[in-house]
Amino acid sequence: MKLLRYGEIGAEKPGMMDADGNIRDLSAHVADITGAILGEDTLAKLRALDPTSLPLVEGNPRLGACVGDIGKFMCIGLNFTDHAEETGNPIPEHPILFMKANSAICGPNDDTVRPRGSVHLDYEVELGIVIGKAAKYVSEDEAEDYIAGYCVCNDVSERHFQTQLSGNWTKGKSCDTFGPTGPWMVTRDEITDVQNLDMTLEVNGQRRQTGNSRTMIFTCNQIVAHLSTLMTLHPGDVISTGTPPGVALGKGMDGPDYLNDGDVVEVYIEGLGTQRQTVVADT
Ligand code: ZN
Repeated sequence: MKLLRYGEIGAEKPGMMDADGNIRDLSAHVADITGAILGEDTLAKLRALDPTSLPLVEGNPRLGACVGDIGKFMCIGLNFTDHAEETGNPIPEHPILFMKANSAICGPNDDTVRPRGSVHLDYEVELGIVIGKAAKYVSEDEAEDYIAGYCVCNDVSERHFQTQLSGNWTKGKSCDTFGPTGPWMVTRDEITDVQNLDMTLEVNGQRRQTGNSRTMIFTCNQIVAHLSTLMTLHPGDVISTGTPPGVALGKGMDGPDYLNDGDVVEVYIEGLGTQRQTVVADT
């Protein structure tokens, strides 16, 4: 089941993708796609619906972030062996955690706004975990039961802000529009092996990132288990699990591959869909 949110910013409605790729309106069944409806009971009720019986959404509406009211947006850093190598960093012993401000979260195809002072704007295709039920002190074996589904994330990053403005990485990860999430959340039952999904990112049609979730250092289940020993994970929280190689940073800090105004970024994960953002300058 593919759950999504469509409509203008701040007025998104809940929807479901049918087998033909059309959006169906779920407003009669749930108020929104948020943590409140991501428990297994509600998902089972939605799964039992015949999508063709739901109102067809005409046209090509904007998509919002596939989950609304995300409580925490957490990111795992340097979680791919091949990406850690390209950045010259050692393989981490424990998952590296940082937060992305919730105000960065946006729709999958919204413009990426290059903030004032940005000189090293970068991209990161990432697999997102959506939490379905509250998780605290969960073991790796149990972790999957707490995951509602998965989605595509682009961990948009400003490397100058991230590394040159002191403090931690959060400064370079939290600018407005730095958290495209979606196009939809695919429920866990539809993903056969989340640790074997191809991931790619293109800029202006040119391949930049090629990876697969099999080279993740810490698996989705290990990440959920680890974080749940540190804090309660709540339904609707999202964890972005790190990026494969090919980011602009990997080519050196003054490399030519940072994003410029007008660039078009396409972010793809097998089974989870594609995002497409255009970079625009802030005014
Ligand atoms: Zn990242």
